[in-house]
Amino acid sequence: MQKPNKRLENQTCIITGSSGGIGKAVAQAMGAEGANIVVNYRSSKEAAEEVADEINKNKLCGEAIVIKCDVSKEEDVKSMFKKTINHFGTVDVCVANAGLQIDHPLHEMPLEAWKKVIDVNLTGQFLCAKEAINEFLRRGMRKDVSNSLGKIIHMSSVHEEIPWAGHANYAASKGGLLMLMESICQAYAPHKIRCNSIAPGAIKTDINKDVWSTKEGRENMLKLIPYKQIGVPEDIGSVASWLASDESEYINGTTIFVDGGMTCYPGFTTNG
Ligand code: NAD
Repeated sequence: MQKPNKRLENQTCIITGSSGGIGKAVAQAMGAEGANIVVNYRSSKEAAEEVADEINKNKLCGEAIVIKCDVSKEEDVKSMFKKTINHFGTVDVCVANAGLQIDHPLHEMPLEAWKKVIDVNLTGQFLCAKEAINEFLRRGMRKDVSNSLGKIIHMSSVHEEIPWAGHANYAASKGGLLMLMESICQAYAPHKIRCNSIAPGAIKTDINKDVWSTKEGRENMLKLIPYKQIGVPEDIGSVASWLASDESEYINGTTIFVDGGMTCYPGFTTNG
């Protein structure tokens, strides 16, 4: 549990896909900063309720609620924002985190696998960002809670930069997020909206459990990480809560890599 700092007091944060993994850690970290939290889930209602209960039990100033929504469906995303605004009054921070992998070599990849990953990882983040921007513009500035009109954080990946054979749908979705994030910044920074991405490296969650749960998988993973440490969801939670706070006010339109140096291409350490 992160030490309470209350950097997000009186602000409401939607974190998509936050019933587990990185999203859960972001929800906990933002809850510990005093924010109201929307724990979004697609199918794991019980797990989402546990996350919300835990945040509420810590008796900080905010409140956590759960909302079901499939981020790839526009009507679901609209409804999630409507419910949030009805309950909390507005939205200040949107962390578009939900994502998945469906891996196939490209020449064997079914169109459905391509479409599903793009629909959730890229279109889902577009839909959330669109609703968030509309709410920020509707609500107007609240200088008493933040110097920014609103904050959007896209959960990207080192694969917005590192190509990934066998995972082209995933890499394409994250590469697309880079341009989505930068285009949002270009258009809405003049309105005092901040839009950034976090690019995790290898973080221990369900998405890559098949790799880190075996000794061989862990060893292979560590070869890619100069810092020689697999990340944990809390490594992302602490960066996300700081990135949503005014402490990072002048950061806009950029990706923060949280990867133990993975994007320094350790394979080239000894001349490649
Ligand atoms: P995870 O599988 O634990 O969490 C992903 C969450 O997204 C799950 O709760 C899942 O239910 C939810 N989700 C999937 N489809 C959804 C949909 N249509 N609507 C709503 N929710 C949906 O994995 P994670 O590692 O916590 O992944 C979170 C994000 O971090 C993803 O965007 C992922 O690409 C990114 N990421 C993870 C790593 C890593 O090493 N774990 C590395 C880079 C990027």
